[in-house]
Parts: sequence; structure tokens; C-alpha cells
Amino acid sequence: MESQRSPLLEVKRNIELKTPLVKGPSRLPLPGSRLKRGPDQMEDVLEPAKKRTRGVGATTKIDTSRSRAPPITTVPQTQGHTAVQKVPKKTGPRCSTAITAVLKNQKSVPSVPAQKPGSTAAPPMVGGKKPSKRPPWDLKGQLCDLNAELKRCREKTQTLDQENQQLREQLKESQQQAKALGTERSTLEGELTRVRAQAEQGQEQLGNLSARVLELEERLGTQEGLVQVLQKEQLELQEERRGLTTRLEEQERRLQASEAALSSSQAKVASLQQEAAAQAALLAERGDRLHGLEMERRRLHNQLQELKGNIRVFCRVRPVLAGEPTPSPGFLLFPSGPGGPTDPPTRLSLFRSDDRRATLSGAPASTTRHDFSFDRVFPPGSRQDEVFEEIAMLVQSALDGYPVCIFAYGQTGSGKTFTMEGGPGGDPQLEGLIPRALRHLFSVAQDLNGQGWTYSFVASYVEIYNETVRDLLATGTRKGQGGECEIRRAGPGSEELTVTNARYVPVSCEKEVETLLHLARQNRAVARTAQNERSSRSHSVFQLQISGEHAARGLQCVAPLNLVDLAGSERLDPGLALGPGERDRLRETQAINSSLSTLGLVIMALSNKESHVPYRNSKLTYLLQNSLGGSAKMLMFVNISPLEENVSESLNSLRFASKVNQCVIGTAQANKK
Ligand code: ADP
Ligand code: MG
Repeated sequence: MESQRSPLLEVKRNIELKTPLVKGPSRLPLPGSRLKRGPDQMEDVLEPAKKRTRGVGATTKIDTSRSRAPPITTVPQTQGHTAVQKVPKKTGPRCSTAITAVLKNQKSVPSVPAQKPGSTAAPPMVGGKKPSKRPPWDLKGQLCDLNAELKRCREKTQTLDQENQQLREQLKESQQQAKALGTERSTLEGELTRVRAQAEQGQEQLGNLSARVLELEERLGTQEGLVQVLQKEQLELQEERRGLTTRLEEQERRLQASEAALSSSQAKVASLQQEAAAQAALLAERGDRLHGLEMERRRLHNQLQELKGNIRVFCRVRPVLAGEPTPSPGFLLFPSGPGGPTDPPTRLSLFRSDDRRATLSGAPASTTRHDFSFDRVFPPGSRQDEVFEEIAMLVQSALDGYPVCIFAYGQTGSGKTFTMEGGPGGDPQLEGLIPRALRHLFSVAQDLNGQGWTYSFVASYVEIYNETVRDLLATGTRKGQGGECEIRRAGPGSEELTVTNARYVPVSCEKEVETLLHLARQNRAVARTAQNERSSRSHSVFQLQISGEHAARGLQCVAPLNLVDLAGSERLDPGLALGPGERDRLRETQAINSSLSTLGLVIMALSNKESHVPYRNSKLTYLLQNSLGGSAKMLMFVNISPLEENVSESLNSLRFASKVNQCVIGTAQANKK
């Protein structure tokens, strides 16, 4: 019978049924253990759930308000009644009291400890009503109460199981949430690390920015200083500007006045321009007329020169120098021309006493008169400027484009160098033909410049000694040494000749010419130390290349002017004994005589219009070939010594000059292009 079973056994069975719940491996916080841990620990267990609830904002809520079944503790069988005693009062004090009462009444169950005196056992509840206290004898009633109590306990256990199940689910859910939170935490930690790194980077940037800020502050300070300076300058400039504005106003006032004056001036200018245009037209017309006249002048000038002869010979007798024997009166005579004493002399008579013949015959010495006629004769007192006056027109022909050659011929000491270069001491009155001719050319070129002609002059100065050419304008290391020069054509097919290694110096004023003549004298002086009186044994050729151009009319004229100081024409006395020095002298003399006679032959050949002109027979004629002949004008000075002792040489020179004077070279043509 079920109802007759011992309630104690029933309890025990129930307890055994519950045991696995407690002894299982679950780590759930069992009610019993929760009590042992205390409410704080329980709180800890629930804390993650709470935190999660807060963190994710979920509405999950654990129902803690529900009354919980009293915890069931493990009751080992060996402990027997001790286990029953441990049932908490909440499960029903009345139940435990009833059991105790039953046990007390039965007394056969010694394991139930006696109830403490004073404690009251509550009677079991029947039908929801508080059962009245059963008398001790009402065992059946008590049993009934116990059964009811047991039933309630079972229901409660069932409820607890459900609750437990719920809690497990909640726990599982919480674990999942915890796991999710863990994941989230690691994510957040990663984020935190990243944020920290960013923060560090930010910190670093902040540091940099601070430094930059400091630097900028410093610069700002500098800029502020600068701004102050600029402000100061601005103030000064403003002040200056005010001053300038005042001046500007003043200037503007003046400008207005000037503009008024200008407009009236412009009117005047316009009328003047008209006038100027008329003048220009007139000027152009006059220019044309002037040019025509100039060309006519050149033509007439040339005609005059031709009438005078393209080869002219002037005789010049030098004065007797101090210390020289005075010649016999009448030794030289200068008869007047057909026009009387006012006519310039053109004749010369030389009286030679025939001493030898007189001595041989014993008769008194007779004299032989030798008459010579030249284009002009200059007696001993003639001044340099008088001489030049006669040749100035000839020199001018060179500007008109006619080659001109002026020679000085005569024995040594007859006055050739004096005539060509001038006297000693730099006396302007004693200046010779070369400086005078150049001065004249520069002056005439200047005048012609006004008519549109531009002239340029290039000078060279060489000497020909023993058929070798030497530069008299050499400077530096070549000075006085005179490295040998050669006469060459300027270019293939060119008629123009040039001397290699010689200096060609552009000249435009007297001063430059003076410098060149001085240099030539120095070069000759150096040479004189090496060769006794070499200058008189060589030909000196001063060449001036004249180039003129009339750009507006496209006219050009080019011509050389040659001023030649020939070597002494004296012959060596054949009666003299020939020592080593004399032999050299003889060779020199032969070279000189050869070149001088070649000059005579060339002039003759030109005069006779021979097909062959022996220019190549001497360096002198070869160099001068373009200045001799058809288109050239030539003048020869025959220089004569006034001394009786030089009568032979004087006669030789006069004879040579007479031959030249008889020559007529065909009509000269200007080198016009
Ligand atoms: P050359 O050159 O023919 O050998 P120079 O010209 O050297 O001769 O003249 C010889 C000397 O005679 C020089 O002392 C020179 O000053 C002088 N002499 C030459 N001609 C004149 C002259 N017309 N008037 C004054 N002195 C002269
Ligand atoms: Mg001389």
C-alpha cells in the first residue's frame, strides 16, 4: 500500500531522485551553493549579463522576483536524519516540525533528533486553510498532512527544475553573449590599439605643430619688425610723394605753358620744314651742279697736267752749305724764261772749265757751257713751300684717281732726302714733300667729303738695297733688322702689288705721318751702323694707297701716290784702287746704277710705246710698275750739287734728267670705277 509507506522513505526516495541534479558536472550556480557563496558572489555571476544588457541595450531581463523553491541539498544516505535537519525553514517549517513530531511519536526512528524545547511544530495545511493542530494521536491526519506537504514539495521541485532549465538557457545565452562580447572586446581592443597609435601619431604631429608654431611665432616677430620698418619707410615715401606731387603740379603747370609754346613752335616748324624742303631741293640741285663742276674740274685739271706733261722733270740745286768751297761765279746760271725775270725759271746753264785740256795745250782754260731745260728749275734759294706749290696740283691728281710717282734723283749729298722728307731738326719750314703732300691730301679729302666723297689712306715705307726689299716701318724685334720682304701680287689675277712682311698703316692725320717718318729714320739709323751710309745707297719708297668713294653716286677711285728717294746716282771712280771695302761699294754701285738705268729704260719704253717694258729688270721698277706708264703721272726732281767739284756728277744727272724730260707718256686715264 502506497499510503502506508513510511514518509521518511518517501522523502529519502525523493531526495535520491534529486541527487543527480546536484551531483552533475554542471557548473551552474546551484541554489545551495549560491547560498554558500553569498549574494555578492551571485551578483558577480549575473554581472556580465547585466553589463551586456547595459552594453548592447537588450531588454533581456532575468526574473528574480519569482519566489524560488527552497534549495535541496545533497543528503547522503549515511547521514540519515542529519540531512533532513538541513532542510531550510523556507520549505516549510511546519513540514519539518511534523516529521519531527512523527519521529518523536514513533520513537523507533532514532536518527531524528529531538526538537529543541520551546520550538513549535506547525500543523500541516489542508485545502489551503491552515490546518488546525492535530492531536498527537492523529497519525493518519498527520500522514495526510505529510503527503500533502510532499506533493507540494514535488510541485515545487518541478517548478525549480523548470526554473533551473530556464536559468541554464539564460546561462547559455549569457555565455553566447559573453562570447560575443569577448569578440567585441578584442575588436575594441584592436580599435583601441589603433586609436592609441593614432593618438601617438597625433601627439607627434602635435609636437611638430608646436615647433612649427614656435617657428612661425618667431617669423611673425621678424615680420612684425619688418612691417614696422616698412611702415616707417611708407611714411617717408608718403612724405616724398607729397613733395613729388607738389613738384608734379609745378611741372604740369610748366608743361601746359610749354605745350602752348610747342604748338606755336610746331606751326613755325611746319613752315620751316616747307622752307627746308625747298632748300633741300635747291641744295640737291646745287649738289648735282657742284658734282658736275667737280667732275669738270677734274677733267680740266687732268688736261692741264697733261699739257704740262705726264712726265715732268724739275731741277733743284741745293745751296752751298757752311764749310763748303764757294763755287766760281757763273758756274751755274739760271736764265730767265721768255716772260722775263718774273717767269719761273725753267733753264739751267752749267759752265764746266776744261782744265785738263788747257793744261795739256798750255792755253788758258776754256769753259764749256751746258744748257738744260726742264719743266721747272729751282735755284739754291728756293724754299720748300715753293717747291711743293709746284707739285700740289700733281699730288691732287692722285685724289682724282691717277697714279702719281715723284722721284728724287741725284748724287749723294745733292739734297734728295732734304727735298722728299725735309731738313734736320723738325723745322716746319724745312718740311719736305712727303709730309706736305699728305697734309695737302688730307685737307683736300676733307673738302671733298662735303661733296659726298670719303677717302681713306694706307701708308707703307720700304727701302730697296742691293735688290732686296726692307720694311722701314718695322717695329719690335724686326726693327732695324728688316726681315726680307718680297713683292707679290695682292691676289691671283690681281694687278695690285703688295710687299710681304711690310707694314701697311692706315693714316688720317699729319701726326700719324710724322710718327711713320720718324720710325723710318730710326730704322735707317740702325741700318747705318751696320752698313756705312746705307741710306744713300738704297732707294726709299713711300707709298700711299688712296681710296675714294662717292657712295651716293656709286663712284670709286683708287690710286697710289709714290714718293721715291732714289739712291745716289754717282759712279765709282774707276781710277781708285779696289780694296775689300771698295769691292762691296762697287757691287752696291753696280746694283744702283743698274736699277737707275732700268728706270730710265722703262720710261723710254713707255714713251716709245714699246711692247715690252722691262719692269722686271729691277726691284724698283717692278714695285712701281702700276704707277708708271699709261695712266700714271710722273715727276722727277733732279737734285744738283752747287759745287764745282761735283760738276761731272751734276752733268750726268742733268743728262739723265733731260732724257727723261724728252719722254712723253700717253694720255693718262684716271682709275675710275
Ligand atoms: P741726299 O739725300 O741727296 O744725299 P741730303 O738731302 O742728305 O742729300 O742733303 C745733303 C745736305 O745738304 C744735308 O745736310 C741737307 O740738309 C742739305 N741740303 C740739301 N738740300 C738743301 C736745301 N735746299 N737747303 C738747305 N740745305 C739743303
Ligand atoms: Mg739722301
